[in-house]
Amino acid sequence: MAYRSPKTVPELRSLMMEPPIDIFDAANALGLAVFKSPMENNISGKLVQNHLIDASAGVAGGTSGWSIIVNSAHPYVRQRFTIAHEIGHFIMHRGEEDMVDGEVVDDQFYRSNMSDEREVEANKFAANLLMPLDVVMRSYMTGKSINEMASLFEVSREAMEIRLGKLPGS
Ligand SMILES: [Zn+2]
Repeated sequence: MAYRSPKTVPELRSLMMEPPIDIFDAANALGLAVFKSPMENNISGKLVQNHLIDASAGVAGGTSGWSIIVNSAHPYVRQRFTIAHEIGHFIMHRGEEDMVDGEVVDDQFYRSNMSDEREVEANKFAANLLMPLDVVMRSYMTGKSINEMASLFEVSREAMEIRLGKLPGS
C-alpha cells in the first residue's frame, strides 16, 4: 500500500485539530490498545497482534485485534512518537508479508524486519499525525520559538526542527 496521510483516516481527522495531538485517543479510536512496558533501551516499541500479548499479564488487547507496546523507559515525547509510528504501521502495513509472525519490533532508530521504505513511511506518518502541517503553521505564525513549539506539540525539539524545516519560508 502506498503512503497514506493520517488525515485520510476518518477516525484520526477530528483528533488533529489542536496541539498536543492526543496520541492515546488516536490509538483507541482505531481499536488499538496501548501498553507501556519497560524494555531494553535499544527497543522503541512494537505493534503486535493481541495473541502475542503476554496472557499472564491479564490484559485485553485492542478491539482491532492489535495492540501497541511502548518502551516506558524512554522519554515521554519519544513514547508519543513511537506510538504514532506504530499507528502508521497498523494503518499502512499490517498483514504484509514482512510483518513476521504478526508483529513489528522497532529498534531505537525505528528499524525493524520491515523494509527501510516501510520505516520511512511510518516515520512520515508519525510526523504528520503529531504535527499536522496546518496546525503547526497556525501556531508558528504567532511567533513561537522552536522550543515553545516542541513543548506545545509534545514532540522532541529535533522532530519539530525537521517539521519546521519543511515550512515555506523558514
Ligand atoms: Zn517501524
